[in-house]
Amino acid sequence: MPRPLIATIHIASMQHNLAVVRACAPGAKAWGVLKANGYGHGLERAMRGFADADGLALVELDNAIRLRELGWKKPIILLEGFFGFEDLHTMAGYSLQSAVHCTEQLEWLEAADANLGERGIKFDLHLKMNTGMNRLGFKPEAYAAAHARLVALACVGNITLMTHFANADEAGHALLPIAEQIRRFEAGAAGLPGMRSLSNSAGVLRQGELDGVLRNDWVRPGIMLYGGTPGGKPAADYGLKPAMTLSSEIIGVQDIAAGDAVGYGSRFTADGPMRVGVVACGYADGYPRHAPLGTPVVVDGVRTRLVGRVSMDMLTVDLTDIPGARVGSQVILWGEGLPIDEVANAAGTIGYELMCALAQRVAVVEG
Ligand SMILES: *Cc1c(COP(=O)(O)O)cnc(C)c1O
Repeated sequence: MPRPLIATIHIASMQHNLAVVRACAPGAKAWGVLKANGYGHGLERAMRGFADADGLALVELDNAIRLRELGWKKPIILLEGFFGFEDLHTMAGYSLQSAVHCTEQLEWLEAADANLGERGIKFDLHLKMNTGMNRLGFKPEAYAAAHARLVALACVGNITLMTHFANADEAGHALLPIAEQIRRFEAGAAGLPGMRSLSNSAGVLRQGELDGVLRNDWVRPGIMLYGGTPGGKPAADYGLKPAMTLSSEIIGVQDIAAGDAVGYGSRFTADGPMRVGVVACGYADGYPRHAPLGTPVVVDGVRTRLVGRVSMDMLTVDLTDIPGARVGSQVILWGEGLPIDEVANAAGTIGYELMCALAQRVAVVEG
């Protein structure tokens, strides 16, 4: 019998969550973001889950090629851009779109232009503006000049105007509210033609309250398609469904007495008699080792708590109030019945990191 730890991927939930995106951002086209192996769900599975998306977005050139080989015909965008001159030939060969965020990328395009132009190649590009995130992009005051350099090239087709939000999940952020980033974007893009691509999941989820101010022709949701949120309200409040359930079983039970300790470092000691269940799931599976005492876990449908330190292959939970639990009882680590954001929050991280960290050795099924 294989180890009982299983990640179940819910393709139907991905499809459902895409419909939620459509409802939040009516009229906008949607990229399905599936970088990082579809946020840990598998590239090919995410491709199927987002079959109705208008395009797929990622940062890995090899996986972009893989999507074409798997038969994806609609647009594909490289969100981080291309990393060198030679990537332009791969982009042309596989009909890939790309972000353009720095002067070096403009220079590579200019250097390749005569050759690519002669071959009739035209790239659809997404010119990125740095509106305060200070990661990738041209400053608002340098944006129109970068745009003009692209317009001058024979190998450039459509140019989409793009930026990225730092704090779209926090209404009224003190330092850089979304309204300020939108204002800077409008100033830098004033008078420039082209479609607009601004919102990640956090922006999509706030579209309703920002209607008329936040205008997208394309949106770029990632986490919400997998049933997580970027912060704020629980995913279920937005009608999102988890796309991954990580489940396992109790593989051992210990009855312990007051003062007995559990696990490495003997970090947890019992106040009184208790039953401790041992679960086949540890940090080598992607469960966060720093998850503290009290992190929620569901056993036989009953919510309980993590006790003791998470070890490589196992973790331990409190079964005192679940007397029926025994070896073979079902355990949900996150997913259906236990939102990943709650587990992440308890462990001081975000659902994104937990999904992306799912380890290779975990068996994956669809259901
Ligand atoms: C990853 C990414 C997204 C998706 O972000 P979520 O918070 O997962 O919705 C959108 N745009 C860009 C440029 C990204 O890199």
